[in-house]
Amino acid sequence: MADLLELQSVSSGYGDLTIVRDVSFSVAESSVTVLLGPNGAGKTTLLRTIAGLNPLRHGSIAFAGRDLGGLRPHRRQALGLGFTQENKRIFKKLTVEQNLLFGAVRLSSRKRERQELLAEAYARFPILGDKRKQTAGYLSGGQQQMLAISMALVAQPSLVMLDEPFSGLAPSIVNDVMETVRRLRSEEGRTLLIVEQAVDLALALADSVLLLDVGRLVHQGPADEPGIRSIVESTYFGAHAANARRSTAS
Ligand code: ATP
Repeated sequence: MADLLELQSVSSGYGDLTIVRDVSFSVAESSVTVLLGPNGAGKTTLLRTIAGLNPLRHGSIAFAGRDLGGLRPHRRQALGLGFTQENKRIFKKLTVEQNLLFGAVRLSSRKRERQELLAEAYARFPILGDKRKQTAGYLSGGQQQMLAISMALVAQPSLVMLDEPFSGLAPSIVNDVMETVRRLRSEEGRTLLIVEQAVDLALALADSVLLLDVGRLVHQGPADEPGIRSIVESTYFGAHAANARRSTAS
């Protein structure tokens, strides 16, 4: 299968701080890739760099065969790159419908098409249809998460990047979101790149795993590779042990 996203020797960070170092990987079309790693490994920074929200220091990022270097975030979005950030970028004072329309308006100026995109969103998460006139700030945490994901999807991205989509969700809603991710891949042929702390959920969903530690890619391979769980855990425990040593020493 062709690669939709390709990173070559990517480095990025904040100010003088380099966080992501020399990271190279590719993401196959219509696959689910999870990006794992301990707290502070640089996972969010890496997604933000792909989305164009953090400057690329070194290396290159190609999406659908096109070099993204220098393209602003909205141009990347227009090319089919969707991103839902962990802190749920919804407009809390607007209704559910207005939030979704915000994504759909940028995509289509035709009212009928916009209505179809909204209907698709409500079919994915029926609760959003029930609450379409409700102010988004009054939705539960899980419903806000569904809305944030739906806002990215309404723009019809070919690559959907989700930052911790399961964080803070009740178990029943976790299942809904997992099913949605599976359908996005299998029925809609979309490609997903997901940052997730819940390793079990991530491995259950993924075709491929990327493991980041202190800004470097330390492992990449299929999610069903024998021993993948212990590879992931040893990176996490290694980080915990290193943190513990640091705090004992100080
Ligand atoms: P977590 O799993 O805890 O969300 P992460 O792997 O997503 O972590 P990042 O959020 O990318 O990691 O953070 C990586 C490092 O970059 C951390 O040390 C963090 O303190 C630092 N960092 C994040 N945002 C900024 C910022 N705006 N300015 C300076 N440093 C930052």
